Amino acid sequence: MSSPPLILPVIQNWNCHNCAGCCKQHEIEITAEEKERIEKQRWDEDKSIPEGQPVIIKTGLSPTSKRYRLAHQSDGSCIFLNEQGLCRIHAKFGEPAKPLACQVYPYAFHPAGNQIAVSLRFSCPSVVSNLGKRVDQQTDEIKKIVDQVLPKRYKAPAAPGLTSKETLGWPDTLKVVGTLNQFFEMKDTRFLINLLRAISWVELIEQSRFETIRGERLDEFLELISQATAQEIPGDRKLDRIAPSRLGGIQFRLLAAQYARKDTFADSSRGLTRRFSLLMSALKFTFASGGIPPLQDRFKSVPFSLLEASFGELPPECEKLFARYYRVKIQGLHFFGAAYYEIPFVEGFYHLALMFPAIMWIARWIAAGEGRSTLIPEDVNEAMSIADHHHGYSPAFGMPHFRSRVRNLSRSQDIKKLISWYGQ
Ligand code: SF4
Repeated sequence: MSSPPLILPVIQNWNCHNCAGCCKQHEIEITAEEKERIEKQRWDEDKSIPEGQPVIIKTGLSPTSKRYRLAHQSDGSCIFLNEQGLCRIHAKFGEPAKPLACQVYPYAFHPAGNQIAVSLRFSCPSVVSNLGKRVDQQTDEIKKIVDQVLPKRYKAPAAPGLTSKETLGWPDTLKVVGTLNQFFEMKDTRFLINLLRAISWVELIEQSRFETIRGERLDEFLELISQATAQEIPGDRKLDRIAPSRLGGIQFRLLAAQYARKDTFADSSRGLTRRFSLLMSALKFTFASGGIPPLQDRFKSVPFSLLEASFGELPPECEKLFARYYRVKIQGLHFFGAAYYEIPFVEGFYHLALMFPAIMWIARWIAAGEGRSTLIPEDVNEAMSIADHHHGYSPAFGMPHFRSRVRNLSRSQDIKKLISWYGQ
């Protein structure tokens, strides 16, 4: 079977720069076939691995579990990461000998009718910094990975829901996605305006009924609501900082805290102690008094109140970064359906919209920890890398309590307030 055509991001560059970041933050689950392959590589005889150190660990609570992952070193990095920051399997046996998950990263492939939409994970610093060759000029390399990822008899799934009640076919769903993407292509308006317009537009989609709006009528309808949104939020509008409601602030901090975590297997002590410390941390994020509990080594404990002041205008480099981030995630369908806990389009976009204030809140935390009250682009780059690690991958965000948190923030209009509050 020839692989389906790819939808590639046209504004994103990427090549691996061997920073070893991914080998330090991810838990790599392997298939039975990969386990067998790695065992045949005889790492028990390789002097670079400490004697007696297993390279594969069994996971799952049941004694009969057949799930396995790569082991970690004591500092949390992958057992195969060497002193030069390179993969031992790659160095000794070549890239195809590595687990597929390592070969795929930072790409993410999502069904888009009879095509495959390609997105990237901004947890990779090279993706954030747009380093390397244009992704749309790497079609052959990406196709090879897609061929390995897709099952032999791949059959495209049905289009995901637009809302919890409405589903369009793939062609119309892709039209809706394409129109949403256009908001982030606008270069003559500020990113904040484009994001707020996109939210208002998605709200109109949420309120509409699509029984008779299909095909050409859908084109007209999408155009009409885009114009209505542009009139509602003119490009030159001055944006005031509007504080979120008290409840909205609590819901947001709990969400941002989840994005700021570093929940890898290696650094998580499991059991009662961990549950108690999670509970204490949740209470602190709820009441926001005193210092922010440092959720990972990167953060310093600074008062919650420090992050609520204005940190100034978004630097122009960050405007461009966010526009690129949203375009890659939208074109790559990386916010709903199969890519995002099977959540419908509208709800998925509210989650994606909240990434902006969450990243900005984390960036402020980084800046405040270094004694600054204005942001530099590096703060935002790093915050994006921390937060996007979880986007679509941490099971927490697909859980009912998290989904209802996002729905509440959207109903109370707090998402827009949070954007204006933490975006300037
Ligand atoms: S995080 Fe990105 S640049 Fe760094 S090693 Fe992994 S893929 Fe390469």
